[in-house]
Amino acid sequence: MHYKSQINDLGSGAKSFAVTLPDVTAENLRGVWKTIAEFGSFNFAVPSEFGGSGRTAQEFCSHFLGFGEGCRDNGLAMAVISQIWTLQKPLIRFGSSQVKAAYLPKLLAGETLGAFALTELEAGSDALALRTRADRVDGGYVLNGSKAFVGMGPNCDIAIVFAQTDPGKGRWGLSAFVVHAGDKGFVRHPAQGKLGLNSVPLGELEFRDCRISEDRRLGPEGAGAAIIQTTLDWERCFILTSQVGAMRRQLAECTDFAAARNLFGQSISEFQSVANRIADMRVRLETCELMLERAADLYDAKKPLTQFAAMANLHISEAFLSSSLDALRTHGGRGYLAGASTEQDARDALGGVIYSGTSDIQRQIIAKMEIGQRSRPNKLGDSTNG
Ligand SMILES: Cc1cc2nc3c(=O)[nH]c(=O)nc-3n(C[C@H](O)[C@H](O)[C@H](O)COP(=O)(O)OP(=O)(O)OC[C@H]3O[C@@H](n4cnc5c(N)ncnc54)[C@H](O)[C@@H]3O)c2cc1C
Repeated sequence: MHYKSQINDLGSGAKSFAVTLPDVTAENLRGVWKTIAEFGSFNFAVPSEFGGSGRTAQEFCSHFLGFGEGCRDNGLAMAVISQIWTLQKPLIRFGSSQVKAAYLPKLLAGETLGAFALTELEAGSDALALRTRADRVDGGYVLNGSKAFVGMGPNCDIAIVFAQTDPGKGRWGLSAFVVHAGDKGFVRHPAQGKLGLNSVPLGELEFRDCRISEDRRLGPEGAGAAIIQTTLDWERCFILTSQVGAMRRQLAECTDFAAARNLFGQSISEFQSVANRIADMRVRLETCELMLERAADLYDAKKPLTQFAAMANLHISEAFLSSSLDALRTHGGRGYLAGASTEQDARDALGGVIYSGTSDIQRQIIAKMEIGQRSRPNKLGDSTNG
């Protein structure tokens, strides 16, 4: 079978599966997670030697475009993708063989929920200014500090946590650790109410003299900034894949609605201002798909990602927000009602311009690298937040 049609099959299979998923609540979250694992979604972009499907990033995108198109719950799709790129992938890249053996099988099986804990209230976008400390003690570390806005934080079984191991060294004094729900002094605060992405619990994590063994460190001491940068590059490239799938669904629904709705003796799709919105939605969808394809090509070819990752994240998150507002406008009062997909998409899309780094920060990275590349061709990116 031709590679392209295999890729398309991946997308349509995922779409048919995702349509069957129920709305996620605190009660059924783990059951839904397990169902998604059984379908194989967590195996994407994970090499077969670690129990994954060995699929390429291109195939990952195809799967999650279909998943996002079928799944009405943008938060759920985003949470699954987040676990792949901010938990599983850093464990594979930076974890020791013991760390991989300890965590990957259960993550892939949907039995462990993971969180990526970087943001702190005081540091925010200036992520590397984080203050959580990991002080060395005999055989390990003691963590003190707190993290904010952590997706899956309130329900997580494990978290990758970034902390200062040598505050005098600034960004070179950061390290990454795996912390477990059962670790003494690890507090998962209750989920906070928020505007959208309802099925992804968001909350604070706190470390009160939380002692962990040395083998829970990812990579060498001081590798934290490099792990943050690499993980944010992956996240920025792929976290919005399912939202592009949602944009496919959105465009189809909007076009059908505009064609069917008759006012002033004609279909509203014949009004230029309505048709223009549909044209803009189509162009945004097309450019977002192209950006995902390019991101996947760069990743599969092991090329540098930092600047393109920021561009993809900026463009796709803003495009999803603009298209969600266009869809809502086109549906009129119906689009504003609670429970309408237009209303939910608009609320969910607002989160996309904040997580993985705000649009301001993505622009800053793109411009800094563009300017830097002209004077210093190999300049590295900036690990501003995600
Ligand atoms: C739904 C959601 C899920 C999230 N999930 C996670 C997660 O799983 N793990 C995690 O660690 N974090 C997560 N976050 C946190 C997220 O990454 C941060 O909220 C984000 O990086 C912004 O930080 P902040 O909220 O402190 O805003 P601030 O940094 O205080 O920013 C406030 C404003 O100042 C602007 N600004 C700040 N610095 C600059 C600058 N240098 N140039 C221009 N403008 C600037 C910002 O763009 C913004 O408009 C999540 C957030 C949301 C909303």
